[in-house]
Amino acid sequence: MNLAHLLARDAARAPDRPTLFDGTRCVASAAQWAARSARLAQALHSRGIAPGDRVLLFMRNHPRYLELLFGLWWAGAVAVPVNAKLHPAELRWIADNAQAALAFVTRDVWPEGEALGDVPVLDALGDDTTALLEAGEPAAITERAPGDTAWLFYTSGTTGRPKGVMITHRNLMAMGLTYFNDVDAIAPGDTIAYAAPMSHGAGIYAVPHLMAGARHAVPASGGFDAAELHALGLALGPLSLFAAPTIVKRLVDHAEAQGHGPAQAAAAYKTIVYGGAPMYEADIRRALRLMGPRFVQIYGQGETPMTGTALSRAVLMDEAHPQYAERVASVGVAQTPVRVRVAGSDGQPLPAGAVGEVLIQGDTVMAGYWRNPEATASALRGGWLWTGDMGALDAHGFLTLKDRSKDLIISGGSNIYPREVEEALLTAPGVAEVAVVGAHDPEWGEVVVAFVVMQPGQPGRPGDAAALDAHCLGCIARFKRPKRYVFVETLPKNNYGKVLKTALRERLAAGEGDRERV
Ligand code: AMP
Repeated sequence: MNLAHLLARDAARAPDRPTLFDGTRCVASAAQWAARSARLAQALHSRGIAPGDRVLLFMRNHPRYLELLFGLWWAGAVAVPVNAKLHPAELRWIADNAQAALAFVTRDVWPEGEALGDVPVLDALGDDTTALLEAGEPAAITERAPGDTAWLFYTSGTTGRPKGVMITHRNLMAMGLTYFNDVDAIAPGDTIAYAAPMSHGAGIYAVPHLMAGARHAVPASGGFDAAELHALGLALGPLSLFAAPTIVKRLVDHAEAQGHGPAQAAAAYKTIVYGGAPMYEADIRRALRLMGPRFVQIYGQGETPMTGTALSRAVLMDEAHPQYAERVASVGVAQTPVRVRVAGSDGQPLPAGAVGEVLIQGDTVMAGYWRNPEATASALRGGWLWTGDMGALDAHGFLTLKDRSKDLIISGGSNIYPREVEEALLTAPGVAEVAVVGAHDPEWGEVVVAFVVMQPGQPGRPGDAAALDAHCLGCIARFKRPKRYVFVETLPKNNYGKVLKTALRERLAAGEGDRERV
């Protein structure tokens, strides 16, 4: 088994189909993409890269990412995708931990002349790399076993050192196939746009789109810009894309600012798959109102990439359903290749409605953490992946996430799930973003503290805390109400847009917000 066979198959069945796009400009047909990847594989062999060797990709989004990725797989090597926003010291740490044999970089993130220990560095967009892709002989695909690693993904890690998640060829094959059943049908000639980092889930969505013979477009800016993406959609689309909730919010803000409604959204976007962080109910309802039936949610983690549960377009649009309010706030039902269980600490399933840790089992679950048997033994137990997420399943199999287990607040002996408090606060007028954490308290053990970003033009005023308190009294139990509000301009986030609750807890421990009790 080798994922590169998908590329060879696509090139054979539709060699001339325009396939890779830099903005609106086609840069490779299916056959050209395959030929470049095959030549790169030969060049890698000549440089002594052996099957199983790790090669880093430290690049901004660019169509070349896909040529290199499949070239690495073609050669039997392991791709190590690294978020282009990481600090050079973090890249060095990963290169060392992965024992990398080679690195492809773009010069915007790794300047010329910068050394990476003794790892050879090649400019992914430079002439030397172009020559590897365009000159020389093509290699045959190096066969791999289904359980061999294809993608060594370093978890974003909101705490501690990242861990290298070993994702196998079989994992990504299963992830790709289930997209068609649980997320969306893809027709040949559809277009996927890479508007989120290709080093993360967005990049591996290349697999199902290659399976279907779709086109792959990277916005010319290499980043996310709502106006650029909309224009790309009108030119090449309608587009399918993966977007974290913060990006969805920006797309919806843009649609609203332009006076666009669902018809304009339909012209530019086919499907917006969202996930990777909590999508609050108020936000998805607004997105559906302004952009129409274009959304599907997925829940997964690096350890079972893009594959845990899915909340389908049909469920998101079924407003008449008696359980609509709960379902729209859930992450949906188990995707086809996995089982999802909510368990107590003994791993046994809990009854419907009870909150426990989310466990996942199936063909998309990682082989383990690279050179980290202790972490592997703690995450893979009794045949299940222990996700560290807390949630509850209903009688119909819909999973509602509460929080990461470490974010749970225990106040006066009662469990408080920050997410529930955040959902409540986000329905208050003027609130743009919120993050709720626990602060140490001598009387209660912990108390609830809300960090609040007000909408532009509405800086948090002292009176707002009282107004928010009154709002909470109207929608959640008294004991769950924040005891303190800290008004901030922005929330600290990691490179993937996830709020760093650890940083907020540290700020509280250092005394921030002490004077702002309700
Ligand atoms: P990562 O491994 O970086 O992809 O992060 C995975 C984590 O992001 C999960 O364990 C969840 O805590 C969170 N996450 C992923 N998808 C969702 C979702 N749809 N809703 C809420 N949280 C999510």
